[in-house]
Amino acid sequence: MNNNLTSMPEPRRSVAFVGSECYPFVKTGGLGDVMYALPRALTAQNCDVKVILPRYKCIPWKYQEKMVYRGSFTMDLCADGRRYYVGIMEYVWDGVVYDFIDNEEFFSWGNPYTNLVDDIPKYCFFAKAALAALNYMDWIPDIIHCHDWQAALVPVYLRTVFEGTRVAFAKAILTIHNLRFQGIYDIPTVKYWSGLPDYLFDYHVLKQGVDDANMFKGGLTYADMITTVSKTYADEIQTPFYGEHLDDHLRYHSGKLCGIVNGIDVEQWDSETDKLLAANYSVEDVLVGKPQNKMALQEKLGLEQDPDKFVIGLISRLTDQKGLDLVNAILPNLIDGNTQVVILGTGDARYENSFRYYENTYKGSVCSCIMYDEGLAHQIYAGADALLVPSLFEPCGLTQLIAMRYGTVPIVRETGGLKDTVQPYNMFTNEGNGFTFDRYEAGLLWEAVIRAKTLYFTGREYWDEMVIRDMEKDVSWDNSAAQYRALYMMLRP
Ligand code: ADP
Repeated sequence: MNNNLTSMPEPRRSVAFVGSECYPFVKTGGLGDVMYALPRALTAQNCDVKVILPRYKCIPWKYQEKMVYRGSFTMDLCADGRRYYVGIMEYVWDGVVYDFIDNEEFFSWGNPYTNLVDDIPKYCFFAKAALAALNYMDWIPDIIHCHDWQAALVPVYLRTVFEGTRVAFAKAILTIHNLRFQGIYDIPTVKYWSGLPDYLFDYHVLKQGVDDANMFKGGLTYADMITTVSKTYADEIQTPFYGEHLDDHLRYHSGKLCGIVNGIDVEQWDSETDKLLAANYSVEDVLVGKPQNKMALQEKLGLEQDPDKFVIGLISRLTDQKGLDLVNAILPNLIDGNTQVVILGTGDARYENSFRYYENTYKGSVCSCIMYDEGLAHQIYAGADALLVPSLFEPCGLTQLIAMRYGTVPIVRETGGLKDTVQPYNMFTNEGNGFTFDRYEAGLLWEAVIRAKTLYFTGREYWDEMVIRDMEKDVSWDNSAAQYRALYMMLRP
């Protein structure tokens, strides 16, 4: 082997990330975490990364005040040629450049997402403005890495309206974080706001059904490469059950589709240094540190304080995707005097109400925190023994990764990234990271919880070994960032 070759530094690559949310500026779910952590991991692997985001009004002032005006111009958008202001506000942090696209008319709402009537024009504008801003700044990356439907028109604009401009040099990757949301609206509205030519509203690009346009579908057609956030989800979305009506389109484009599992930011999620915890702990003293966090959590939430209770956590958006009807079905059976359940989440009223009902019915054993609370999430990851993630579908899922990092054993359904990241416990070989079940049935979730409880109460030394295995598992971004980098190299050698 030629040692000189293997030790040669990898060539530098430039990447523009385009997406609708990014922690800590604005985050509603896993996409926000990825947009924060992956660029940072890539800068450590010899990449120049610019993250392009909307400048929403809800971004905290402490970040807004640090943004520096980088320039502005006007851009035509709609079919009738209406022109809009595009401002670029820049913020450089830890080697990553964040460019916020500024426009009061589109981004002055409180939340990033409101309803499709407003969101369709907003993200047509954002996609086109992101490309125009790259041309304006004369920063032409090797790769434009777009995320979810909100950025899906980027590849479409890039290969049509922007063909012949400098930015067209870049290759486009579109990552599917969640196929459920696609940006579908009637053709006249999307045609008007995007200003895209008629021929793109064809069944192979943007058209869906009889008279709808699907922004995600268009992006999938024009992207040079499609990725999704786990190998299993990449296979699943090519089937009718998980494909959200795009399975045929994805099968057609399967030659450019691959799955790369997410990691987590191991500095942000570190039980040794996490300031939000009652007691910090490492893999060395987890068996002491975890009960301390458990007692603090129980005290904070008004649960009976007892380190020997089996505490099950659930941190989730409360929507059908997350398998909460299974949790609803088994929750009364879980409460047996030895078990406590802590729920943190917001979402559909029916789940919020049922979990509130269970809290009232099983006071001292169930606590339902119907809110979004970053601090409490950290405390649950540290204080719970197990974390439930029984999703109907889960492109990757971050909560099971964070749980493992904090020595909390995940109980998951074998779907998407949950299947790829949680190895089921094998009682004969004493291997595995958590407890799993396959079919979407309450009875199977119930059995998985019983298996977990049985090991916890009757085989604690094996349980503790699993806790340590989970904490030692590599859930960092390093490996996944290297795979993305290899993809960038493949597209622009
Ligand atoms: P999704 O993106 O589908 O919502 P993920 O598992 O990929 O699910 O990511 C969820 C992220 O949001 C995790 O970082 C989790 O800790 C966080 N999270 C979800 N709900 C809440 C909540 N109510 N309070 C605090 N953090 C939450």
